[in-house]
Amino acid sequence: MSGKSDLLKYGALQELHCHTTYCDGANTPEEMVQAAIQKGLRRIGFSGHSTSPRGSSYAMSPERSVAYVAAIGALKQAYADRIEVLCGIERDLYSPFVPSGLDYVIGSVHYIKVGETYYPVDSSAEELARCCREAFGGDGYAMCEAYYEGVARLAEMRPDIVGHIDLVTKYIEVDPLFDMNHPRYLAAAFGAIDALLPTGAIFEINTGAISRGYRSTPYPAPALVDYIKKNGGRVQLTGDSHAAATLCYRFDEWEHLMKDSEV
Ligand SMILES: [Zn+2]
Ligand SMILES: [Zn+2]
Repeated sequence: MSGKSDLLKYGALQELHCHTTYCDGANTPEEMVQAAIQKGLRRIGFSGHSTSPRGSSYAMSPERSVAYVAAIGALKQAYADRIEVLCGIERDLYSPFVPSGLDYVIGSVHYIKVGETYYPVDSSAEELARCCREAFGGDGYAMCEAYYEGVARLAEMRPDIVGHIDLVTKYIEVDPLFDMNHPRYLAAAFGAIDALLPTGAIFEINTGAISRGYRSTPYPAPALVDYIKKNGGRVQLTGDSHAAATLCYRFDEWEHLMKDSEV
């Protein structure tokens, strides 16, 4: 690995965001590698969930994170002549533990932290609505501002890739708590992008919520993708795949979004 630019090398012929049975995925790392070879990919990068601040079971414990790095390391060797395998991690902003030996880091925000409470952003529409009601008096824009303050703080982590930057919109088609075109919403989102651009991080265009039936379009929304690209940010398609069948999910439909952002 030679820095962030190398992560863009294979364009749509690589998956850099996927999960396995080490966290909340359905398939083992080896099954994922074999599926990637079948699909004709040049590279597969794993991004298991780093330890959750709430100890939630979707993420890897510290011990499991260490075992995960070792397991992916063994696959790198075993499949070296067929596909490039990378060991990354999806590091949550509030994660208390990250193992060593990683090729890259996806920085993601999965919680809105209010006082000592971690409200999950993407566990269910009901949980997000509860967060909006309990912590922000029903003001969806105040909730988004708090979420994007967290996203801006990812800059301190200096991630290689920024994960699903507008995750707070996951349930927008089910339960719209705010309007994605509202000036307050856009100001919060653009502010987070402004904080991240100087780090050189790549912004992912993530089709994971489509494959899991929550959304009809990828993260981020078109207005955000435009803003990122207009300001010199680079983007990469990812599937946030939780199963072998959804590697690089519907990349063909969204590949055009990667144009104008080549290195
Ligand atoms: Zn995530
Ligand atoms: Zn993920």
